Amino acid sequence: MRYVIIGAGVAGISAVESIRGADRTGDIVMLGDDPHGYYSRPGLAYFLTGELHDKALFPKKREDYNRLKFIYRKTRVIEIDRAAKNVTLENGSLLSYNKLLVATGASAAPLTIPGANLQGVVKLDHLEDARAILKLARRGQTAVVLGGGITALELTEGLLARGMKVHYLLRGGRYWNSVLDEQESRVIEARLQEEGVELHLRSEAIEILGRSGRVAGVRLLDGRAMKCDLLAFAVGVKPRIDLAKNADLACDRGILVNEYLQTNDPDIYAAGDVAQVYDPLTGRSALDSLWSPSREQGSTAGLNMAGQSKAYIKSVPFNVTRLAGLTTTIIGAVGSGHDDDVVGIARGDSETWRQLPDAIMTQGGFDVNRVRLLVGESRLLGAVVMGDQKLSAPLQRIISEKINISAIHDKLLAKDARIADVIVDFWAEHLAAA
Ligand SMILES: Cc1cc2nc3c(=O)[nH]c(=O)nc-3n(C[C@H](O)[C@H](O)[C@H](O)COP(=O)(O)OP(=O)(O)OC[C@H]3O[C@@H](n4cnc5c(N)ncnc54)[C@H](O)[C@@H]3O)c2cc1C
Repeated sequence: MRYVIIGAGVAGISAVESIRGADRTGDIVMLGDDPHGYYSRPGLAYFLTGELHDKALFPKKREDYNRLKFIYRKTRVIEIDRAAKNVTLENGSLLSYNKLLVATGASAAPLTIPGANLQGVVKLDHLEDARAILKLARRGQTAVVLGGGITALELTEGLLARGMKVHYLLRGGRYWNSVLDEQESRVIEARLQEEGVELHLRSEAIEILGRSGRVAGVRLLDGRAMKCDLLAFAVGVKPRIDLAKNADLACDRGILVNEYLQTNDPDIYAAGDVAQVYDPLTGRSALDSLWSPSREQGSTAGLNMAGQSKAYIKSVPFNVTRLAGLTTTIIGAVGSGHDDDVVGIARGDSETWRQLPDAIMTQGGFDVNRVRLLVGESRLLGAVVMGDQKLSAPLQRIISEKINISAIHDKLLAKDARIADVIVDFWAEHLAAA
């Protein structure tokens, strides 16, 4: 039996681990084109700020790989031949498979305005990108950052930490409006400004201006122009589906797979950022583009490739991140519904958005502690915890385990409710009763 895995990211590595757990003797060959192999892509943000050395980005040691007894080849796959059941490598050689996993991830979506090819226009996708940014970032020079999500903010903070003057441009009227509520956005924006970032709301770049092939500035939709020495962008991600598409595997925005991570070819699986996974609970196929789901999908795909039958059941989304230095945990369905990929929003008449501006938001100087809950009739559907993280572990369990909260429903919605106290008491009673 030969298992071939394309992509050495977290989905690919997790698949190797679960295949080896289920099949002690089969051949496993992993093919990856990143010169650095497997490393933490979320860690790149901390490498950029200087908080992490690049050595700390590599979570596995040589012994860990040796234990898994697989072959790793640093190469690019250029074709999948489903009829012959082989893949073509960049040197033209062929490698046959019995079971194939496509775990090719996603790339930063390209910037499509004129000037995007100028030197000094950068993105943060791979370790090599981070190194290139560090080479270009010069203390005292000016950077412009484009993009509305977490990666754009990470670029902003990384460049600021390297001593650059940073202009952060947002097309819309506030930061990350598909996930954060207005007050949360404003908290982040205020902190960025306190850190020295020049924030420009409703500002859309339409052209990057150059001089001698290098970026020199940016022109905005409203006619303004801004000088800069570096332009960084993070305007979304694009699953790397070309190999699959060329092999006539069913694709939408990602490679379409069922809950067993299997494509329309029963011997080919897909997992991680490249996969658009069917969720039997909602009947929808969604892209996740996050580390933990990629790991879980890789692991489940591996088990199924090795002959087991395990469905991937999407867990409640859970993401801990740092926004403008503020630890923020996002659990479950918190979005405003703009983002197609925020699934599990089961908003109905019986469910109420609970905004908690006064009851629990305490803000002193640079410290912010805030909790927002999405309260359903008998359970909590989502939460955003900013700052003090004491509530995030209980909330994660209450939300993911769908614990019945009918007993505190009215208390939570009462005017001037002390939400944190209500949750803390409820959780203590729940644990005592368990
Ligand atoms: C800067 C940054 C910050 C992030 N922060 C967070 C965060 O805070 N939290 C979070 O949950 N997620 C975060 N993510 C997303 C997270 O890193 C991804 O969801 C995860 O890495 C996806 O894993 P994967 O294995 O599917 O794909 P990848 O990690 O992209 O790995 C796929 C690999 O396949 C290789 N490959 C592609 N095509 C071929 C081919 N034809 N032949 C051979 N090899 C190929 C690629 O080079 C790559 O090495 C962040 C991502 C970035 C870039």
